Amino acid sequence: MYQLNDKIKNLVPYEPISGTYAIRLDANECPDNLPDDIRSQLKERLDDIAFNRYPDPLAERLVHSFAEYYGVNPAFVTAGNGSDELIFLIESAFLQKGDTMLVVAPDFSMYNFYSSICEVKCATFQKGADLEIDVDAMIDYINREKIDMVIFSNPCNPTGKGISRAEAEKLVSSVDALVILDEAYMDFWTESLLDKIEDYSNLIIFRTASKLVGSAALRLGFAVANPTIARAIQAVKSPYNVNSLSQAFGEIIYQHKEYLQNRQKTIVRNKEILYNGLVKLSDTQQGITVFSSVANFVFMKTPCSKEIWEYLKGKSIVVRLMGAYLRITAGTEAEVAAVLAALNEFFEVSE
Ligand code: PMP
Repeated sequence: MYQLNDKIKNLVPYEPISGTYAIRLDANECPDNLPDDIRSQLKERLDDIAFNRYPDPLAERLVHSFAEYYGVNPAFVTAGNGSDELIFLIESAFLQKGDTMLVVAPDFSMYNFYSSICEVKCATFQKGADLEIDVDAMIDYINREKIDMVIFSNPCNPTGKGISRAEAEKLVSSVDALVILDEAYMDFWTESLLDKIEDYSNLIIFRTASKLVGSAALRLGFAVANPTIARAIQAVKSPYNVNSLSQAFGEIIYQHKEYLQNRQKTIVRNKEILYNGLVKLSDTQQGITVFSSVANFVFMKTPCSKEIWEYLKGKSIVVRLMGAYLRITAGTEAEVAAVLAALNEFFEVSE
């Protein structure tokens, strides 16, 4: 009888929170759906799509639009079916049996998860109690342990903290390991290394259209790297990884620079309102730590996170529960006001 192998036999499919909730602040998505004018443009493009044909393998029009928006050379860009696809692809292709990759903790859990499927060793570099990365200590660790690949998110999901451009550059230039900087949330901060990509032979930067751009539904991610690495990524990816609809949408959305910039300002402002509201709440309560954030969410530790999570769910608000921590996405202004009101109510009720 066929038996599943050891590495997969106990795995269960990823299951996001089920049920219908009025306010979703659990997945760091963009709170607003597409505006009507961009939707209309997309509908017009539908008429041009040859549904009977395979999509453009290199998604050239999409890649050019992305590259223009970010001011990078299109030859350096590979589009993926979400950055999730690119994480798996790059770990599986750029590591070989016996290699070791490094993740930091806490960080986005998929990096570690995919390493087990790829059957490579995965070491963990622990952040301090303040959830900051000690970059010098990390460099020492990578060189001492002969790490082959290091991957981490900057800004970090779930902590919302980030390392500066200068620190990121120091790390990339001080190690031989391939460094993958996942800048999924860098649209909300200023410390991207995208403009330095040409300077390094060991750097890949990921970006996603699932956060600021607001198209998590279409699955669009990007890997940016020097031409040698970019060609290798293009050679190992599956040929038609980004469907024609997503390519068309991405091409359109990155042309709307002003719209994206305005949306960025709104989300950052709502994040600040959320952060300030949580800090105010923590001033009145024992044992709550709220971490400052450069992303579109706020991370906090409380003595009763599970209870808070249940209470919010009862009010049709979902946030992300992570052990003793909660991660709350900056939604619309009204959603932020609603979650803050519900949290204040929770503490009044439970006093
Ligand atoms: N990287 C990080 C740090 C993320 O938080 C996420 C989404 N939660 C992803 C990658 C995956 O993004 P995508 O939707 O592009 O697959």
